[in-house]
Amino acid sequence: MPAPEPRRVVPVPTPETTPFWQGTRAGELRLQRCDACAHVYFPPRPFCPKCAGRKVSWIAASGRGSLYSYVIHHRPVPGFTPPYSIAVVELDEGPRMLTNIIDCPQTPEALQLDMRVEVTFKPLTDDIFLPQFRPAEVAR
Ligand SMILES: [Zn+2]
Repeated sequence: MPAPEPRRVVPVPTPETTPFWQGTRAGELRLQRCDACAHVYFPPRPFCPKCAGRKVSWIAASGRGSLYSYVIHHRPVPGFTPPYSIAVVELDEGPRMLTNIIDCPQTPEALQLDMRVEVTFKPLTDDIFLPQFRPAEVAR
């Protein structure tokens, strides 16, 4: 019998990240915004990285952004089929997020810096839905 296909490492929510993972499961990309200075940031933490304010709120982001940077990975890693992109997306709200660009060829021709992308959620388990990005549809 062939060995089972190795699986991708599944993130484990912490108290700080639980609202984020509840959001991805609900189809929402959630970020935190400082109540004092309105700075929007990611990853989640209990205080504002800009002014250290401790009153912060969760907001639903647009899920849209642009491709800031990426590399194309060619080696097999459990849960990934090479080649695949490891990308940094700059969200319209400001924060940058490490992710993958999917649903397009994993080539420099298809992956253009500053291209518009939108979030999509990939279920890894019943509870964990991973945010990934795909080229945004042009006609919108
Ligand atoms: Zn702040």
